[in-house]
Amino acid sequence: MLLVDENKLYEGKAKKVYRTENPNEVIIYYKDDATAFNNLKKGQIHNKGILNAQITTIIFNYLKNNGVETHLIENLSDRAQLCKKVEIIPLEVIVRNTLAGSTAKLLKIEEGKILNSPIFEICYKKDELGDPMINDYHAIALDIATRKDLEEIYSQTKKINELLKSFFDQANIELVDFKIEFGKDVNGNIILADEISPDCCRLWDKETRKKLDKDRFRRDLGDVEEAYQEVLSRISRVG
Ligand code: UDP
Repeated sequence: MLLVDENKLYEGKAKKVYRTENPNEVIIYYKDDATAFNNLKKGQIHNKGILNAQITTIIFNYLKNNGVETHLIENLSDRAQLCKKVEIIPLEVIVRNTLAGSTAKLLKIEEGKILNSPIFEICYKKDELGDPMINDYHAIALDIATRKDLEEIYSQTKKINELLKSFFDQANIELVDFKIEFGKDVNGNIILADEISPDCCRLWDKETRKKLDKDRFRRDLGDVEEAYQEVLSRISRVG
């Protein structure tokens, strides 16, 4: 199947989605484009697509081996994955284990405070609104998700967080926070979709707390590709 424009179903900020001959499967292609602050900052991170595709594959395979269903079927090339077609639930589900980023700013608490228990947040995925944070009541009242969908999403999110914390810990990485997305497959089952990579996680070296994620791009800290590569090298050795 050729990754040509006539087969393109969707192009987002970091990935493109192509149809395949099977209506239940799509190909996801990872780009090097990077954006931050709701598209105000734009750039490219050399080899990001390759690194994020590999990192996501390792993490999704680990989750699958531990009982979490994901959309990933197999890798087709260094940037392309064959995935189950899902209808994305327009929610960004954010988990925080350590306080950083927007919530640290909101509460005027210094970044780096380890939380007593994880915080779950949901944001309504709508670029033109800047993905506003909402709560369960908004999601249900506005038909974004049902109560049952949310229960399933939170139950899977809790399991994913526990598995990921332990996984990254073995790579000597502190899982500060992350964003995940879920979709409904053709049978209506809610499964983990999108990606899990340094683009959507905050990952700090466990000892030095050096940032190994997209904050290096957001905050112009330099060595962005090297940090993503470091994450890949470390998680490749886990397990
Ligand atoms: N995140 C993301 N996409 C978004 C917003 C957040 O992947 O549109 C990730 C982000 O990389 C971080 C976590 O979710 O790991 C929490 O982000 P936060 O709400 O602190 O927002 P930020 O400080 O990135 O604006």
